[in-house]
Amino acid sequence: MNDFPHIQLLAPKRGMPPRHFADLSVTERVEALGQLGLPKFRANQIARHYYGKFEANPLTMTDLPAAQRELVKDSIFPTLLSPVRAVETDEGDTTKTLWRLHDGILLESVLMRYPGRATLCISSQAGCGMACPFCATGQGGLDRNLSTAEIVDQVREAASTMEREGSRLSNVVFMGMGEPLANYNRVVSAVRQITNPAPDGFGISQRNVTVSTVGLAPQIRRLADEDLSCTLAVSLHTPDDEFRDELVPMNNRFPVADVLDAARYYADRTGRRVSIEYALIRDINDQDFRADMLGKKLHDALGSLVHVNLIPLNPTPGSKWDASPRARQDEFVRRVRAQGVTCTVRDTKGQEIAAACGQLAADEREGA
Ligand code: SAH
Repeated sequence: MNDFPHIQLLAPKRGMPPRHFADLSVTERVEALGQLGLPKFRANQIARHYYGKFEANPLTMTDLPAAQRELVKDSIFPTLLSPVRAVETDEGDTTKTLWRLHDGILLESVLMRYPGRATLCISSQAGCGMACPFCATGQGGLDRNLSTAEIVDQVREAASTMEREGSRLSNVVFMGMGEPLANYNRVVSAVRQITNPAPDGFGISQRNVTVSTVGLAPQIRRLADEDLSCTLAVSLHTPDDEFRDELVPMNNRFPVADVLDAARYYADRTGRRVSIEYALIRDINDQDFRADMLGKKLHDALGSLVHVNLIPLNPTPGSKWDASPRARQDEFVRRVRAQGVTCTVRDTKGQEIAAACGQLAADEREGA
C-alpha cells in the first residue's frame, strides 16, 4: 500500500522510456504506423526525416498528412532527451549538454569540434556498475541501461547541431557514462543506426565509431563477430592483474590475459587496431616497470595491431589521486614505444567544464 501516492508524481519511477521509432525494427515501425491507419511507405518517409535530416518532431514533417502528425508523435516519437543546459569551453569548440530523461535521470553528452572533424562522446547507461575507483561515474553505481533510442538520439541531436553550423558530425565515441558492452544489444543496435547509410542510419563511418570497454572478454568476442568494423578501445590502466583487480574491478572476472586475448580476436576478425586506454595516475600506475610491462604484454598479444592512448588522470572531486607530471608522462611514452608499440597522449578537451573522461553528470549530482 502506498500511503503517499503523490510521491509517484514527484519522482517518476525509474525505468525504460516509452518506445520510440529508433527502438523499432522496420517491421515494427510499419506495424505501429499501420495501427494509426498509415500505409507502409510512411515508415521510410519518417526514417528520411529522422536519419537524413535529424528531425524528430512529426509535427514539422509536412509531407505527413496533417491529421496524423499528432498521432505519430504520441505513438512513436516521445521526447527522450530534454535539454537542461549547455556549457561551452575551448573557445566554443567543446559543448557539454546536460539532458533530462523521461524519468528524471540526468545524462550528458560532449561535442568536441576539431579542424576537419567533430567527435561526440555519448553514454550507454545512466550511471555505471563497473565501480572503477578513479572514475566519477563509477562512484554512483548503475541507475539503468539506456534504451537504444536514448543512445541514438544523443547522436541525432549532435548531428543536427553540426549541420546547423554548416559542418557534420564525423566521429562517435562510447566514452561517456556506462559500460557499453554491459548494455550489449542496445549498443550494437545503436551502432548500426549510427553507421548505416541514410535512410537506415546517420551514415557515420564504422571506423569512426569507438566502443570503449573495461574488458568484458566474451562480449568483445561477440562484437568481433557482428561484421562491424568499429574501433574497440580497452580501458587497461595497468598491465598487472594484482593492481588491475583494484583499478578496474571487473578484472577479477576477466584478467589481463583474457582481455588481451579477446582484443586479439577482435583485431584479427575486423582488421582494426585496438586502442588501449591508460589513465596515468601519479605514483600509482606510471612507474617505469609498468610502462615496460605494458609495452611488452601488448606487443606479445597484439603485435602491431594496437595503439596506446595515455589519458592524464582527471582527478574526481575528493580523490587522493592526481595526474602524472609531464616528465613522467614523456618517459612512460618513450618506454612503451621502445617495446615497439605506438603510444600517444590524449588531448584533454573540456577539462575546465568537467566534460572530461569520467566526470560526466557528477557535478549535478553534487548540486554544483
Ligand atoms: N566503461 C567504458 C567507457 C566509459 S569511460 C570504459 O571503461 O572504457 C571512458 C574512458 O575514460 C575509460 O577509459 C575510463 O577508464 C576513462 N576514465 C574514467 N575516469 C577517468 C578519469 N578520472 N581520468 C581519466 N580517464 C578516466
